[in-house]
Amino acid sequence: MKQPFNPLNSTLARGIREVGFRKWYERELLSSHAHMLLCLLATIAMIASFEAFSGASFEEKVLDTVFVVASGAIALWAMRRYLFLLMHAEEMANQAVCETCETYGRLDVVEENTRTGATAVRCRKCQHEWTLLP
Ligand SMILES: [Zn+2]
Repeated sequence: MKQPFNPLNSTLARGIREVGFRKWYERELLSSHAHMLLCLLATIAMIASFEAFSGASFEEKVLDTVFVVASGAIALWAMRRYLFLLMHAEEMANQAVCETCETYGRLDVVEENTRTGATAVRCRKCQHEWTLLP
């Protein structure tokens, strides 16, 4: 799956080139957990909006409904993003171990297929090459 341009979450190939695989992985995990926190806060906001519903006037109820829908949408988006970032980072980490020397995450990018998202990498220790598949 091709990732759209996103300044907060760089693609795997760009991440490896700029900061190395381990740092890219760490940043993806931090970003995913920030989305989990956003999901939690949006859920609390949604519950609070439900709470404010009782005893409110008609205009306040309309406003509460807007808040419930907005915070619910934010919570769903954040949950989806959290799971995507986490699963993608874990998938890449599982493939980041060199088959020859069993070194983890010390990679250089050989080639990036922007259409399929596959990234050919080379082990920095033994020069073994393989492809990380999305
Ligand atoms: Zn190796």
